[in-house]
This record gives sequence, structure tokens and C-alpha cells, in this order.
Amino acid sequence: MANEPVRQREQTAGRDLSYPAPPEPLPVPVYDNHTHLEISDGEHPLSLSEQLDRAVSVGVQGVIQVGGDRETSRWSAEAAASEPRMLAAVAIHPNEAPDYEQAGTLDDALAEISELAGRPRVVAIGETGLDFFRTGPEGLAAQYRSFEAHIEIAKQNGLALQIHDRNAHAEVIATLLRVGAPERTVFHCFSGDAEMAAICAEHGWYLSFAGNVTFKNAGMLRSALAAAPRELLLVETDAPFLTPAPFRGRPNAPYLLPHTLRAMANHLETDVAMLATQISTTTERVYGRWDAEPVVPAPAAPSVSLGGFQ
Ligand SMILES: [Zn+2]
Repeated sequence: MANEPVRQREQTAGRDLSYPAPPEPLPVPVYDNHTHLEISDGEHPLSLSEQLDRAVSVGVQGVIQVGGDRETSRWSAEAAASEPRMLAAVAIHPNEAPDYEQAGTLDDALAEISELAGRPRVVAIGETGLDFFRTGPEGLAAQYRSFEAHIEIAKQNGLALQIHDRNAHAEVIATLLRVGAPERTVFHCFSGDAEMAAICAEHGWYLSFAGNVTFKNAGMLRSALAAAPRELLLVETDAPFLTPAPFRGRPNAPYLLPHTLRAMANHLETDVAMLATQISTTTERVYGRWDAEPVVPAPAAPSVSLGGFQ
């Protein structure tokens, strides 16, 4: 059953594990275009339906659920198939690619992503890209091979591409230009500066901002935000990670996205409703509408016989 989280966030000592109170609802609904609801977090983890109910109650009307390996990509595609508030993105994360390569299973994994790409309500290939922070030089060949294969899968299926770029700005851009970027290419959790925002603008690539744009030390990100064309902006949570200020370190969830959107509007000196309207329009331009493909009812949960385990 693709109903409940299948992974747990690694816990670091001293974190406050309580979920923050819901923010004031947004005046205009938006979408969270990058989240990981397959990962549970917090002292009292939220179920999938609690996550989505809370999100909708504050104006986050839909999410894109993002996988990072075979299991979570399958989970994402299956969960989105029966959930009207969810679409899916599927990929092998750049930090997972070297492990698959080493095990001799990267080609099988890529074949599975390619198969999942054709499923209903799978609207993006991601997250894929390059990560020079967590992966050392020995893993780079696998990362490049995987990234290029994902770009190809996105183009073959006419899907958007969600890029994970950590400490690899120049190399990600060079790869996109060398092999040709998909028509709709999104830098998830944009982490570049104003100069990189200008390069994205030149190529019509989208910049998706996450909770870290609210951090005190994120002046560079805010300059990039201000430099980016408004029609290329997206917003995401990357939950359960990157909880926006003032709740940094606590569990993150799509219902906390209004904090990030309000901080963006504040920095751009624009009206929250206006920015939300524009981002919603852009989100639907990139991924399509959430009701574009019908949902199929989830298979019934296996019945538990008396005396069965709970
Ligand atoms: Zn992510």
C-alpha cells in the first residue's frame, strides 16, 4: 500500500521534533512542487492524508511527491495515482546513482524510472543532477551517466525535469547545454546567486525556492530571487527538510510553505496574493493541472482478521 511513509528521517540529537502550528491560510492557493512525503519525521509523524489535509487548509492545494531511488519512486507514482492532491516525480537521486552503479544495477534502475515515467500522474523526472558535496570523485562518472539518462527520459516522455544541484552549478549548466535541456527544466531548491539566476533566465529554466530562502544568512539566495524573472519562480518545501524560519530544524511539511511564500513576497516587495497567483499559474504551466489525469481508487487495504497483528 502506498498510503503511509516508508522511510524515516535520520534524527540528530537535540532537535525539536514537534510540528509547528499551522500558519495563517494564504489568500490564493499555491502548490508545493517538491516534497518527500514518503519520509516521516517528528515525534508524532503525520499520515499522508493528515499531511495533505493540513496543506489544503492553509492554501497549499497540491504537491509534487518526489522519489529518489527505485522504491521511493515507485511509492511516489503509486501514491499519486490514487490521490487527487498529489502528482509524482521519479528518479534516482545523484547520491544514490554511484551505489547502484557499484552494485551493477544502475541500468536496471534507469529502466524502472523509464517505465514509471509513463505512468499516469507522473509529471516530472527528478530529482536528478549532480552533487559534489556528498559524493566524492569516485562517484562522479556514475552521477553524470545517471543525470544524462534522466534528461533523456524526461525528453522522451515530454516530462519536466527537476534538478538537484549541490556545489555543482557550472557542471549542471554545462551538462544541460551539452545534451540539451528538456523544455521545462526546474532547479529544485535553487542554490545559486544572481548571476546564475540570469543564466537560468536566459534559457527559460525555472527556479524553485525552498525554506532556506528565509534563513538569516541567505542573502545570496534572496539576491537571486530578486534577479529572477517573476514568471520563472516556483516554490517548494523539500519537506521534511529545510523548514522555513522561524522554525528551522523542526519537522517540515507542505502546510508550512506559506512562510516561505510570504518571505519571498516580502523580499520582492509584492503582494502575497499576486505572487501566489503568478506561482500557481507557472506551476500549472510546468507540470499541468492536478486534475489533468484522473485518479484511480487505491486498492482496498488488506483486511485484518481477528487476532491479526495491528
Ligand atoms: Zn528533494
